[in-house]
Amino acid sequence: MKKTLILNWKMNPESFKMAKELFDFVSEKTKDQIMIAPPYLYLKDLVNNQNKKSKIKIIAQNVFWDLLGAYTGEISPLMIKKMGISGSIVGHSERRYILKEDDDLINKKIISLIKNDLLAVLCVGETHKDSLNQALIFIKNQLKKDLSKISNSINKISYLSAGRKNTKLIIAYEPVWSIGGGKPTDAERSALIIKEIKKFVKEKHGLDVEVLYGGSVDCKNISSFLKYKEIDGFLVGSASLKKSEISCIINKVAQNK
Ligand code: PEP
Repeated sequence: MKKTLILNWKMNPESFKMAKELFDFVSEKTKDQIMIAPPYLYLKDLVNNQNKKSKIKIIAQNVFWDLLGAYTGEISPLMIKKMGISGSIVGHSERRYILKEDDDLINKKIISLIKNDLLAVLCVGETHKDSLNQALIFIKNQLKKDLSKISNSINKISYLSAGRKNTKLIIAYEPVWSIGGGKPTDAERSALIIKEIKKFVKEKHGLDVEVLYGGSVDCKNISSFLKYKEIDGFLVGSASLKKSEISCIINKVAQNK
């Protein structure tokens, strides 16, 4: 099975010109489906200027849960859908811990995205380098809260996830302590945790969910993660801004078919 690749540009690069150049570079490098999460300000122009042949799916880095209303500074699932955006990352650790987003808010965002036929990429992961057991307790607790009440939308997710490329829920396992480049975790441990996440979601919600690894993935370490069939792909942050790193990552993922 082909691995999914999501590139999270975070609050980079500094101009639309640079973003467009990077976007076109990724488009030319790959024939496979890749998702890119650029800053909000660039979304509309990237969608409108996307080459018809490009298979890149554009997603947001964050979204609000309600569709319209008095929510200063927020952008709704309805708005991104009308703009041609495929979905959004939800619960990234930088939003959980710097912007203090809690599980209740994250849960509302996931439900709203799925209800509106948009993809939710849920990020979960332990904050400290805990024992495997402690990490699993932490992650399962997050999953329990973040995926609470998704049962009403389950038909939409499972119907759409029959064709894997159309799934409306992807989970990214991102140990918080390893995010930021240069601090990768042990691939075997990540594969084990990912296996447990899949088991948990299957048991609680009856869903076969795709689970990616994220945390300092780069050209040097990606091969160690590619060995594990449990890891369905990667969410790449820092390395996704460097052309040489992107080329190398895309090539290694493509060769792994
Ligand atoms: C991320 O932003 O989700 C991420 C994994 O970042 P990095 O690759 O820089 O660790």
